Amino acid sequence: MLASCLLHKGVSSKFSVILTNVSIASISTWLTYQTWLFIGQLLILDLISPSTTSLITNLGILALCQFFYTSIFVSIYYSLKSNLPIWQVWKQECLSSSLTHFTGAGIAGIIFKLLNYADVFSIAVSLIIFSVVYFTYRHIIKEMTKSIEQAEQAERDKAEAERDRRIEVEKYAEDLTHALKKEEETGKALRKSRQAFQHAALHDSLTKLPNRAYFGEIVREIIAKNRENSECQSCYVLFLDLARFKTINDSLGHTIGDKVLMLVAKRFLRMLGQTDFVARLGGDEFAIVLKNIESAEIAEHLVWNIHQKISQPFSISGNKINIGINIGIAPCTDDYATPEDVLRDADIAMHYAKERGSGVELFSRDLRQQFIQRAQVESELPFAIERGEMALHYQPIISLKDGSLIGFEALLRWFHRDRGFVSPAEFIPIAEETGHIVPITTWILKETCGQLAKWQKMSYANRQLIVSVNISGKHLSYQSLLVDVEMALEATKLSPSSLKLEITESAAMENAEQTIRMLSHLKSLGVQLSIDDFGTGYSSLSYLHRLPLDTLKIDRSFVNSVGENGEDSEILQTIISLAKNLKIRVIAEGIETESQLNILKNLGCDYGQGYLMSKPLPMETMEKLIFEKQNWLPSNSTENVSNITEISKDKNLPSF
Ligand code: C2E
Ligand code: MG
Ligand code: MG
Repeated sequence: MLASCLLHKGVSSKFSVILTNVSIASISTWLTYQTWLFIGQLLILDLISPSTTSLITNLGILALCQFFYTSIFVSIYYSLKSNLPIWQVWKQECLSSSLTHFTGAGIAGIIFKLLNYADVFSIAVSLIIFSVVYFTYRHIIKEMTKSIEQAEQAERDKAEAERDRRIEVEKYAEDLTHALKKEEETGKALRKSRQAFQHAALHDSLTKLPNRAYFGEIVREIIAKNRENSECQSCYVLFLDLARFKTINDSLGHTIGDKVLMLVAKRFLRMLGQTDFVARLGGDEFAIVLKNIESAEIAEHLVWNIHQKISQPFSISGNKINIGINIGIAPCTDDYATPEDVLRDADIAMHYAKERGSGVELFSRDLRQQFIQRAQVESELPFAIERGEMALHYQPIISLKDGSLIGFEALLRWFHRDRGFVSPAEFIPIAEETGHIVPITTWILKETCGQLAKWQKMSYANRQLIVSVNISGKHLSYQSLLVDVEMALEATKLSPSSLKLEITESAAMENAEQTIRMLSHLKSLGVQLSIDDFGTGYSSLSYLHRLPLDTLKIDRSFVNSVGENGEDSEILQTIISLAKNLKIRVIAEGIETESQLNILKNLGCDYGQGYLMSKPLPMETMEKLIFEKQNWLPSNSTENVSNITEISKDKNLPSF
């Protein structure tokens, strides 16, 4: 064993290992020997007989005992070292060594036989055979070791590859977890941004109220429910428009304007019930759905409440703000198919509330009819002249002193091909709003100037006649008016003093400084100027004094309100005195009765215009009358002329 240890493990091997091996071998050899002796005595064996049977038995016992003791000691030793069960160690490490012991015993038997019974030749042959067998054995062992090593290496490589693969898989799993986590985070962010996007798509960024799209969805649902169940509690849709918001924006700036909108939104939210819904449609327009309202009266009552609360003045950054509101109400019935239809009708009602100054209007079919008509007027007005539907009628203006014809007021008439006569009260405000009044007036100026120039040329007596053309307030702010007037006069060769421009009092006072400037320019052209509908426009006397006026036309409401015997004529009297003091002539319009005429004469009114003398007439009729009629006053209305002449004897007054 010592030689074997030194041969295989080398001198440098651990001493303890060599000592253990040598000790185990010595002890087991001794024990083997003792056991052999004991068995020999026990079985009365012939231990030293040279017979082959005895040799095999002895060698067998020796080999078995040697194997048994050695393997037991080795197993105990390894078991203690590796903490494995002895039996397992024996099986794994020692069982195979039995072969060495039995082979060794076999070889020993053969050597014994050879040494005792063989000759030199057979020993030599045996040695050769042994050498061949030994070397073959060595070779086989070497090959086996090599294969085992290769198998072990392959096993190791496989294990390594397995480990690498595991590491890779683990890394991949880690990457995958990371990617999944990242994906989850991205998904979360995406969900969040989708929610934010959805919110932004359905809400107004300034007031945070729902927007038009969201409002549409809510009304759509209500309509659908109404259609499914006709006994559903009724809802009302309100269209709300802030009044004077543009002025606030223009005068106080957009920051204040934004604050006003936010404050109004807060007020809406505070005053509405939980089931109600408010949205900002855009600009200064809002919409509300009032749910579960039993009747239109209750709806109106609630809306008036809203109107009153929103109209409360408030203060922003030290600015006191008075904001008004116009509200249109439309019942959300099952007649409606889309939210746009309900909103449109609420909008129509709101427009009427604005136009009439009532603040709140409930939608009705009549309103829609009017609205449609208005829309028709708006769309057809621009083509009315070229279609030949517009004409001018002339209403005579008469001297109340002697009944002579002083001139005419040109009044526009529209004979619509389908609707027939359309009243100026209907289309003039629309023309003013849309700006179409400007080209229309340009055409009127040319027409009237041309017409008067023609009449003036027809007779010497007509040379003093004057034509009055109404100028809308809006047109006054256009510099082009000067050019239009100049061109009309130039084209028709009419004397500028034969043309009079009438401006309503309210229009003149709306932007008094600008009116003064414009009228001064017009005056410098030589035309005459008159204030129309005087008494209805809250004139400031200081401005009135500065306007370069030739005449003042008293509104027909004052003429109308005078009683048969001159009752309530104080206002007329005051206006006439005022005009005299300002040294301008007075025309009274809307004279319908002789008593009105007589009172005006008595008060010293210079000129008159009204159905009593003549209605506005078409050009052809008027042309005839100009030549036929000398006195336009009714024959029995001259009793108090003396009185009139007395008041109008003022020599400082300009002629008409
Ligand atoms: P206005 O300029 O005050 O015209 C007088 C209106 O009173 C005319 O109404 C005329 O027909 C009416 N009238 C005259 N005498 C009497 C009377 O005795 N009794 C009653 N009840 N009415 C009388 P019309 O033609 O309907 O015009 C209404 C308004 O429309 C005009 O009021 C004027 O503001 C505007 N308008 C008419 N034509 C034109 C125009 O060519 N251009 C502009 N800008 N406005 C016009
Ligand atoms: Mg007029
Ligand atoms: Mg008038």
